[in-house]
Amino acid sequence: MSELNSFQGVDYYQISSLLSEEQKRIRDTVRAFVDERVLPIIADCYESHRFPIELLPEMGRLGLLGANLKGYGSAGIDDLAYGLMMQELERGDSGLRSMASVQGALVMYPIYTFGSERQKEQYLPQLASGELIGCFGLTEPEHGSDPSGLETTAVADGDSYLLNGGKTWITNGDIAHIAIVWAKLAGQIHGFIVERDRPGFSSATIEGKFSMRASNTGELYFNDCRIPQENILPQAAGLKAPLMCLNQARYGIAWGVVGAAMACYAEAVDYTLARRQFGRPIAGFQLVQEKLVDMLSAITQAQLLCYRLGQLKSAGRMRHTHVSLAKRNNCRIALDVARKARDLLGGNGITLDYQAIRHLTNLETVSTYEGTDHIHTLALGQDITGISAFR
Ligand SMILES: Cc1cc2nc3c(=O)[nH]c(=O)nc-3n(C[C@H](O)[C@H](O)[C@H](O)COP(=O)(O)OP(=O)(O)OC[C@H]3O[C@@H](n4cnc5c(N)ncnc54)[C@H](O)[C@@H]3O)c2cc1C
Repeated sequence: MSELNSFQGVDYYQISSLLSEEQKRIRDTVRAFVDERVLPIIADCYESHRFPIELLPEMGRLGLLGANLKGYGSAGIDDLAYGLMMQELERGDSGLRSMASVQGALVMYPIYTFGSERQKEQYLPQLASGELIGCFGLTEPEHGSDPSGLETTAVADGDSYLLNGGKTWITNGDIAHIAIVWAKLAGQIHGFIVERDRPGFSSATIEGKFSMRASNTGELYFNDCRIPQENILPQAAGLKAPLMCLNQARYGIAWGVVGAAMACYAEAVDYTLARRQFGRPIAGFQLVQEKLVDMLSAITQAQLLCYRLGQLKSAGRMRHTHVSLAKRNNCRIALDVARKARDLLGGNGITLDYQAIRHLTNLETVSTYEGTDHIHTLALGQDITGISAFR
């Protein structure tokens, strides 16, 4: 891959020097993939509201799908390398990182963690290679932040289950070959693998999004959808199971949004150095410099948070509230950095010729999904005080 116009990264505190050669190699491979394969097409994908599905086989070959799982065709990389991978992917676009997060953390991880050996062998290698696309159906029209009340049901019927209900806001929902569907069986939440061709299963794309446009988001419908009994995830019982999956995905988000922020910051530095007003580069004005300094400062803090979170995860000491803090903090800073970049680009900042507005609108989704800012605030508030403010 060529070095032309390649992204140099944003690393004010030399965090790179803390990384192993292998971690740097993985980061740089994904960085080059984004420079060469993603950036040339992503604005067009965003404008035409489509996920660049032609990149999926390459994402599979590069080991970007389920990369931190072991065996079954997965790359088996460490947690820091996985985080760096998500950072670099989201530097390209949140839709691309969403594909990797959903496929790896929300489809492969539950099969890997809660599935039978047969399920693992049947699905994981094809999901890792990108031959199969998966989606994760938890959110329903009436149950978003509080999934405990979900209404989709599974009823045993002979040697099958009958699923009834509907899911909404499902990433990959209308392009997935298989769905991990969370439904209540005798009042308790269980996970089910539902293949697209099962009778009674249908889906539709949600149109009109002004965010995450290079990603498919769909609705899933189950109308007496019959699936064999062997499609239940045998080890998943209760809300804890989908929450464990979300925790994995949120780890990737905490890293990913730093990549989006890095893209916006780098673009703002380049632009303000080149753009002249009042007879000099706008980068020479104090007010502009203050914005650039705030952006770099926020990115550096978020990078250090991610690095430490990765260490905690690798050591098996990462708690779900550690992830909440990083997801909440880093989505906030990324949104703020993207807004500042958009501002510094002036009128050009609202066009897709530049990256800032695309990242800014994407980050509105990232701030909402996988637990809104409020929900992570309440989780942390409860952890600090011991008092739940959820209800
Ligand atoms: C593009 C996109 C992709 C998505 N992909 C998936 C996916 O793949 N799979 C999936 O299952 N879901 C997915 N989601 C759904 C996402 O997880 C939900 O949108 C999110 O959980 C919020 O739920 P909601 O939209 O119903 O909002 P609500 O829960 O109705 O929240 C609306 C507002 O109320 C606030 N609120 C709610 N409860 C409280 C409270 N107790 N205290 C204070 N404030 C509160 C929220 O913080 C928010 O500000 C996706 C969403 C989007 C936009």
